[in-house]
Amino acid sequence: MDRLEQFEVPLTQKNAIPQVMEKILGKKVFNVHIERLALDYRRKGNPHYVCNAVYSLEKNSGEVPQNFSTKTLLEKYNKNKSMPSEISIVGAGPAGLWAAYALLLNGHKVNLYEQGKPVEERFRDIRRFLKARIFLENSNIFFGEGGAGAFSDGKLNTRSRTEFSQAVLGDLINLGASEEIAYLSKPHIGTDQLQFLIKKMRKQILELGGKIYFESCLQDISVRDNCLNSICINKKWQPCEALVLASGHSARNIYDMLFALGIALEGKSFAVGVRIEHPQSFINETRFGRGVDYKLTGAADYTLTGKTTYSFCMCPGGVVVPCASEKGGVATNGMSYSRRNSPYANSALVVPYKIDKNDVKSGIAFQRELEQKAFEMAGKNYSVPKQRAEDFLAKKGGDLWDLMPKDISTSLEAALYEFEKKMPGFIKNGLLLAPETRTSSPLRIVRKESGESVSVAGIYPVGEGAGYSGGILTSAADGVRLAFSMLWQ
Ligand SMILES: Cc1cc2nc3c(=O)[nH]c(=O)nc-3n(C[C@H](O)[C@H](O)[C@H](O)COP(=O)(O)OP(=O)(O)OC[C@H]3O[C@@H](n4cnc5c(N)ncnc54)[C@H](O)[C@@H]3O)c2cc1C
Repeated sequence: MDRLEQFEVPLTQKNAIPQVMEKILGKKVFNVHIERLALDYRRKGNPHYVCNAVYSLEKNSGEVPQNFSTKTLLEKYNKNKSMPSEISIVGAGPAGLWAAYALLLNGHKVNLYEQGKPVEERFRDIRRFLKARIFLENSNIFFGEGGAGAFSDGKLNTRSRTEFSQAVLGDLINLGASEEIAYLSKPHIGTDQLQFLIKKMRKQILELGGKIYFESCLQDISVRDNCLNSICINKKWQPCEALVLASGHSARNIYDMLFALGIALEGKSFAVGVRIEHPQSFINETRFGRGVDYKLTGAADYTLTGKTTYSFCMCPGGVVVPCASEKGGVATNGMSYSRRNSPYANSALVVPYKIDKNDVKSGIAFQRELEQKAFEMAGKNYSVPKQRAEDFLAKKGGDLWDLMPKDISTSLEAALYEFEKKMPGFIKNGLLLAPETRTSSPLRIVRKESGESVSVAGIYPVGEGAGYSGGILTSAADGVRLAFSMLWQ
């Protein structure tokens, strides 16, 4: 196969890349496999794609690279290690779903327990929450089938792609996601697509013989001689040899339980701040320039880094959602649909919140304090406090200065002026909503290289709640990786 790198693709020819290559090379090309496609908008007014692709000059020559999946990865590495035949998994978020899928593919029996409801029922609960502010503790934006990722922006970003994250992207394509996610530099799915894919993942798990128990909450664990002995689900104890703990970073009751059992936990730094919302038209014009067909580019995003504050989880064409996992507390987050066609863009602006490894209590306490304060300030109805960026800087109304600790507010104040220089109009057009507290896990459940807890044999912490991943793709990839490392022990 030959390779063509860093070639320009006009926006209108995104779906005709072989033809673009033929024009550049002056030859017919076959078996084109796109490796990477990124939107380049450094030249204002002329955004275009930059592409890397491999191809052959003869129809039947060269082996066309294929996207791989968890199944092909297992075939490549499977060492058929004997391990507990029945594995319990707690949490049906990306990490739990993909751990279940990989273990089932390898022939193990899997029982997957999720405290929330199937995604379609959960969707109705969330709609009621967003419209009528009826909050349910086990069925909300964080909890239920699909985990925190199901009602999200559905960005599938990762800083570095691994075989495991590529396999997850391949699985999503096999489930029906667009092939583009394998090569786009910033793949995005959106809430509507995610729900559809999660339902298909459930079907696949059931077809492989997995059992899924909804509204089934892990309440306790019993340990004997540093080995897992049994688990308590909905007040019923049952023997358990292997437990994959994929409960996410908002399962505070799980952290309390692990702490009480003396299982090794470490404090982990995370970030705290606000969401800022702008008209999408302002972001499009600032990033792409005027006179551009934004239907072809899609909604523009941005990444900003200041002295102490940075943008995080930017959602172009999305909405800010209030979210809660506990009664009487509320935080912000962002979500979008696959078309990213809301007239607004939002992003978190966050400041690192440092936590010492030995401090396993203060991270959650700090999150909870801010979330409860926000709940009180915004009228105790799961709305979030908001304030125009200009008013925040003028200290008018004072809302967010009263909510956030002074050092964080001062960092945000400085960052707004810094970001205004990079994107003029950032302040005037900005609405702040707060607090953004659930950026990543405030704790790590310490595990060995094998994925097993350092304290108790048979417990395998995985995903964002374990503190080893952040985001949908890396959490799902951690689930797959865990299944492999269990096989390799
Ligand atoms: C609104 C929002 C938008 C987001 N946007 C993005 C985005 O665009 N891109 C991105 O990469 N990431 C995004 N994230 C983060 C992403 O969703 C998480 O990183 C990811 O879901 C973590 O996966 P996980 O499987 O480790 O945990 P989770 O998704 O948190 O899943 C954990 C599951 O465990 C269940 N559980 C917890 N305790 C128990 C128990 N005791 N018994 C039984 N079940 C239990 C929970 O109900 C939950 O369903 C967003 C998050 C939110 C909330």
